[in-house]
Amino acid sequence: MRVAVVGVQGDVEEHVLATKLAMKKLGIEGDVVATRRPGVVERSDAVILPGGESTTISKLIFRNVGRKNMAEEIISLAEQGKPVMGTCAGLILLSKYGDDQVERTETKLLGLLDVRVKRNAFGRQRESFQVPLKFKGVGTVEAVFIRAPAVVEVGRNVEVLAEFERYVVAVREGSVIGLAFHPELNAEFGDTKIHEYFLNASLD
Ligand code: GLN
Repeated sequence: MRVAVVGVQGDVEEHVLATKLAMKKLGIEGDVVATRRPGVVERSDAVILPGGESTTISKLIFRNVGRKNMAEEIISLAEQGKPVMGTCAGLILLSKYGDDQVERTETKLLGLLDVRVKRNAFGRQRESFQVPLKFKGVGTVEAVFIRAPAVVEVGRNVEVLAEFERYVVAVREGSVIGLAFHPELNAEFGDTKIHEYFLNASLD
């Protein structure tokens, strides 16, 4: 199994390590590669979009290199039912609808999750925090939120996986998973439950 981590910006290395550890625990042979250019995602079995700054990551994935761009490759993997996971800024990019910040910055979204997201939903008082979350199909996970977005509208075919206070913070539509928090940070403490869930999310 080959897993690609979109490596243009953000917490890329943490996702690479978390995925490698999750593969080892599940006994899956393969490799995990961070990539900044088109050509790798299209030859992968799964892809992760890390957190970071959604405006920056969007520009880079939609930028053509030759005749290809990474955005098209990510959409194609999703259409094939292969696991696609976005965390934090990655959740924003996977969504169909954004908020006024997304509009104002003319951030292009991939539209793979039929949800509306709100950037920086938890405000300045709570820029980052950690809470135990009940995650459907996984159990309780310690979730780290860092200037996190939230899902504020959910389409009919979207499954809600976790909620915190009045917000939806984890969703799934087919093989596409979006999380408002940062599961890659838990791998440091040996917890790779979310990455294992992701690796198992193939629809074939
Ligand atoms: N606030 C960032 C954004 O809107 C996301 C933060 C993160 O990915 N940790 O793009």
